Amino acid sequence: MATHKLLLLPGDGIGPEVMREVEKIVGWFRKRGLGFETETDLVGGSAYDAHGAAISDAAMSRAQEADAVLFGAVGGPKWDSVPYAVRPEAGLLRLRKDLGLFANLRPAICYPALADASSLKREVVEGLDIMIVRELTGGVYFGEPKEIVTLEDGSQRAVDTQLYHTHEVERIARVAFDLARKRRNKVSSAEKMNVMKTGVFWRQVVTRIHKAEFSDVELEHVLADNCAMQLVRWPKQFDVIVTDNLFGDILSDIAAMLTGSLGMLPSASLGAEDPVTGQRKALYEPVHGSAPDIAGKGLANPIAMIGSFGMALRYSFGLLDEADRLDRAIANVLASGTRTKDIAAPGANAVGTQDVGDAIVKELEAQS
Ligand code: NAD
Repeated sequence: MATHKLLLLPGDGIGPEVMREVEKIVGWFRKRGLGFETETDLVGGSAYDAHGAAISDAAMSRAQEADAVLFGAVGGPKWDSVPYAVRPEAGLLRLRKDLGLFANLRPAICYPALADASSLKREVVEGLDIMIVRELTGGVYFGEPKEIVTLEDGSQRAVDTQLYHTHEVERIARVAFDLARKRRNKVSSAEKMNVMKTGVFWRQVVTRIHKAEFSDVELEHVLADNCAMQLVRWPKQFDVIVTDNLFGDILSDIAAMLTGSLGMLPSASLGAEDPVTGQRKALYEPVHGSAPDIAGKGLANPIAMIGSFGMALRYSFGLLDEADRLDRAIANVLASGTRTKDIAAPGANAVGTQDVGDAIVKELEAQS
């Protein structure tokens, strides 16, 4: 039996509460004969309290050895004034950097039962299933020079640099095309080639990789501003959208809100393929933060975290049937009306974090 090594990093605030529900799901799959081995470690403020760092070297080497890392959330008012280098987010940034996680995958799925929670009309979002693939380690957030300079006349000049190398665009394009082949076989590549050299370059590289390696996949190019508009006008026209770090940041937040609540949104960050095993380093996390306002109250919606584990089943372990089964269980639980407060229908009774985890396990059981 294959063994899948999972490192759990619950973090702070609601992180440990939603991770506990994932452990129930992992436990259920384990009972059904799947070989999951889990280890747990600290990250964020809790790691700072224990070790004076947002993630310890020991936890980092566990992350390097794991087949996948499941990350809860970090941060909270308690750590707002700790030194910048050891602030809770530094743990996540180190994980992304040291594991080389260059591809951020954010699905936006609108469960029929939640279509009315979206700010858009039901017919626009119901049944929506799109994937935004964002380049995560390059572009304008990291390019140098990045500075504010005072000039001789006393005025100032600020510079950020949008910078991409061939290999950075090639590898994110391959991730997007690969994903599309397993979905509806369409990639929309978003940039601003009308006003940016990096946009011209992005389009050239994506076109070349498409022609050479993925000509069976449909490719369209779209200007990033038009893409934002189209996402709100008729999002179902998209399957996979691939874009750079900055545009991906914005477009994925737009797509996120199509589906209702922050508590529903999973994500994956993937690294390069190991040339021998074909495995990618991977980290799975909900999009939401540590929600200090509801932490410790048992109110958090665990579905984003559980859905993140579902993405690990699909993208790290190739357990597609199990991932589909988990998705169906989540959809059925939502359809039955079992919901936390953030997604409860107006006037309906909301349940707690543990109730949702229990209901999903029960639903998994009922399907088998
Ligand atoms: P947040 O995502 O934690 O919360 C925003 C709002 O959404 C809050 O009202 C919260 O109660 C609600 N919410 C979030 N997740 C929910 C869930 N699963 N179920 C129900 N409601 C949920 O964002 P914030 O308030 O801006 O930040 C709080 C802390 O989290 C800060 O310290 C911030 O730095 C940190 N943060 C961490 C991450 C991360 O770990 N990746 C991401 C964003 C923010």
